Amino acid sequence: MTQVEPDRAAEADALSRPFTPGAPSNPPELADFPETLAGPVPPPRQDPRTAAFVEQWRNASYNCYSSGHKFCREVCPVTQVERNESWTPTAFHANVVAMERGELDIEDIAADYVNCTQCGACELRCPNTLFTGDFYRFRTRTVDVVKAVRSLAVESGIHQPNWQIWNERTDLRTHEPVLGETPVNQEKVRDWAEGLDLPIGGETVLFVDCEAAFYRTSVPRAVAQMLQLAGYEFGLMEDQWCCGGPAAEMGYADQAQRFARHNLDNWRKTGTKRLLVLDPHDYISFTEDYPKYFGEEFDIEVVLVIEVLAQLLRAGKLTPSVPVDRAITYHDPCRLNKRKGIWEEPRELLRAIPGLKFEDVDRVTQWSYCSGGGGGLPIEKPELTAKISAMRLERAAELDVDTLVSACPWSERPLSEAGDAEDIDVVDLHELFAQSLGITVGGSRGDVGDRRLAQERTGVPGRARREHGSSRGGCGGGGGGCGGGCGNGSGGCGCGGH
Ligand code: SF4
Ligand code: SF4
Repeated sequence: MTQVEPDRAAEADALSRPFTPGAPSNPPELADFPETLAGPVPPPRQDPRTAAFVEQWRNASYNCYSSGHKFCREVCPVTQVERNESWTPTAFHANVVAMERGELDIEDIAADYVNCTQCGACELRCPNTLFTGDFYRFRTRTVDVVKAVRSLAVESGIHQPNWQIWNERTDLRTHEPVLGETPVNQEKVRDWAEGLDLPIGGETVLFVDCEAAFYRTSVPRAVAQMLQLAGYEFGLMEDQWCCGGPAAEMGYADQAQRFARHNLDNWRKTGTKRLLVLDPHDYISFTEDYPKYFGEEFDIEVVLVIEVLAQLLRAGKLTPSVPVDRAITYHDPCRLNKRKGIWEEPRELLRAIPGLKFEDVDRVTQWSYCSGGGGGLPIEKPELTAKISAMRLERAAELDVDTLVSACPWSERPLSEAGDAEDIDVVDLHELFAQSLGITVGGSRGDVGDRRLAQERTGVPGRARREHGSSRGGCGGGGGGCGGGCGNGSGGCGCGGH
């Protein structure tokens, strides 16, 4: 072994040797070094609102700030597409530490906190969660920190312009303005169920989120008809308002609680004991927000429709028998997989569909996948949502698939828009399962999601378009088709070779 001679020149510099700040054995020139490193702790904040906020969230933020792992950033969909250091889960915690020290105020940082879909990926990837989660049931709380900062901003009179308009309109109409300038209103909240002869109220009611009730009505229609087919008894809510979850996500906490109060009172009025929920965002509201608002008063059982369908499948009450000719992959909605750990039942349903070619991507890899459609991001920054959706579709296009299946109505509008660029259909899981049960769903997929029209136009289902004549590669003639001569770049040459 070679003995390395100590560097005598370097030894002259006290800082070149390891030392413990504050130790009596330190050379005199390092005596005040700890103060240089840490600085004096400033007096507590005078603004009572900020002081209360800091008091509540300082521990959660120091857990992150003092560990300095930064593993969370690579799974964050916003970081992946923007690489902006102020828009990372790390920054979201560090800012709170800086606020405690009097170095930042809420007006300095409020706009940065728009840049989060509240997907929960960072919480799962954080080593603090991974090392201590199983034993101590610990989870880093980035989503809650983001919600709390947004709430502090609104309470302090700091609004993001589009969020403010969105929540004012939601308050006025009791539903989210999912149709843009076209009003949604209370009289129309059950229009999606036209012709299905569903009762009102009862022990079990189906709650339909605003996007599905007014925009993508094919989803609740599929759900209702499958439950009817299986003989599962349920009714519609007598006077349903928005769950309030989106308002809570954007920081409008008082409004969210008012809406929750209305819904709980209405369930009491109709003797409702069980809530069927088809939308993952609502599922978060009812299982996390409502219990916080109401404590033990909230005694309603909350059941996810996908789990009910999986039970009915296992019990033989629903048996898919109509083949579906698609090659699909599944998009794990963030609020199901990352936030709630629900990933098995959707796959169980998909694997039961005859004719389907299912190319799965494991759920852990999908911790880093997001549609960009959550946390109010598409309302305030639609261009950022579009970037994240495009990235999700690029990943789907790396597989041999023609269809991306999701189970979240709020993801399906941005994903459908991005799907056009990759010639990939975006289809809802409930609808696909209903199709394999022989149900003609009806309703609408909204103005960007209706890829059934593309199939009608070309006469060719998606997989065949990709294999034999897609807009991405032209006709390959692989199945005996035209060999590229039809010039029909929009896909579906109709040459008879499929
Ligand atoms: S959230 Fe976790 S991984 Fe990310 S910076 Fe904080 S401690 Fe590190
Ligand atoms: S919740 Fe999602 S979008 Fe928000 S900081 Fe974490 S990983 Fe990024």
